Amino acid sequence: MAEVDWREQTCPLCCSASHNLVSTRDRHGEKLSTVLCCDCGHVFTNPAPSSNALADYYRDIYRQDYKKVTIPKRKHIYRAGISALNRLTRLARHINTGVRIIDIGAGGGEFVYLLSKRNFDAIGIEPHTGYTNYAREEYKIDMRAGTLETIEFLTESTEAVTMHHVLEHTSSPMAALKQVWKWLKPGGVIAIEVPNLASWGHAPHHRFHRAHLHTFNRIGIEDALINSGFTLIDVSPQGERGHLSAIAKKLPAHPKKVWRNAAPDSHATLVAHTQLAHFLSGQRFRRLYANITRPVHEARAIHTLGSPKTGRLLLDALFTANS
Ligand SMILES: [Zn+2]
Repeated sequence: MAEVDWREQTCPLCCSASHNLVSTRDRHGEKLSTVLCCDCGHVFTNPAPSSNALADYYRDIYRQDYKKVTIPKRKHIYRAGISALNRLTRLARHINTGVRIIDIGAGGGEFVYLLSKRNFDAIGIEPHTGYTNYAREEYKIDMRAGTLETIEFLTESTEAVTMHHVLEHTSSPMAALKQVWKWLKPGGVIAIEVPNLASWGHAPHHRFHRAHLHTFNRIGIEDALINSGFTLIDVSPQGERGHLSAIAKKLPAHPKKVWRNAAPDSHATLVAHTQLAHFLSGQRFRRLYANITRPVHEARAIHTLGSPKTGRLLLDALFTANS
């Protein structure tokens, strides 16, 4: 994103213009300005790229930038398959079998394929054309190239919408949640996962990523959902990185917006997580050990599944082994 248009902005959650600078570099040491909202505690990139620049980036470049590939590798499919199984386990408690589910930011289509195999009416939305085409051809699923802003669905046309690591990439999480609210039927369910400010999964100097415009705190994501017309079902940290996962249900109308001020909490969280504290926590070594052993573990697991040659055969074997 070297030549994009960066713009100064107010808080993307509570709209306050009051914020303090908390970081000037991203995890690669590149210049990136990150601020903390004084009125709600949300942490966000400011200035941020314009929404047009973001759309171009996610359509053509993002996956290559992130994983250095244009179609998913076998290890990525395996990982996404495991994640898909965990996501469905959490979601299944709150939805009926066979309903329509729209997965925004569907990536290589692994979750949509799992949903289809479990007889849901699943649709995947993914901005990257390479991944969209791959998923469509490999799994014969309903994948549509686009984003929340470009794809259209009828009002009240789906029972559930899932967004796994999507909101942190959007210019306006509130506009995204409002769009989802419109598409959901009364009582419909939204399931999201976002980066957690309180997570120690990354060292302090690796905390901010230029593709992530937002780092959420628990109160912020709860209030964003409540203020968008949802009632909370479950908000909890998930996985080894402690990402924030939230499941909520659509209410009939948008309430009057009230934002709690989590700024003191967000500030305390950042101050407590120093390089030294991170080192002493042992997290760095656990992460290093996990990074070294993970390829071996994954290769062994794929071998145990019979070393499937295609993405579809790999997911079929994985889903069968876990059903
Ligand atoms: Zn704010």
